[in-house]
Amino acid sequence: MTEKARSEYPEHDKLAAVKDQSQVIGEFLDFGLPQMRIHLSERITRPCECNHCARGQGQFSGWHTAEEKATIIDGRVQITDDAPTHRTIESLLAEWFDIDQAKIEQERRQMLGALREAYTARDAGS
Ligand SMILES: [Zn+2]
Repeated sequence: MTEKARSEYPEHDKLAAVKDQSQVIGEFLDFGLPQMRIHLSERITRPCECNHCARGQGQFSGWHTAEEKATIIDGRVQITDDAPTHRTIESLLAEWFDIDQAKIEQERRQMLGALREAYTARDAGS
């Protein structure tokens, strides 16, 4: 691929630059961790669903600590805990390497369009 052609697909260039690293990390996450019986979790913050918080009156709850009450938004204590992640390994790698998956898809369509045009031009020429 020429330098000019490469610059038409900058997100794919970024992807190509991290391909080897991404491959190794992806295999570790995909096969290594399950083999070691380790599962990925995610820190998630969500509004408390207790009776007080559900009414937007978390500050009046007797069982929330002062520390928990300090997190109140719209009358609801914010609970932070770990939960199994629903993120795909692909999306984790994309975020880590700062790859925009929507741009990748957009460039993929561009590439297909360019291919289609090239074939159409070739067929028209024959
Ligand atoms: Zn609550």
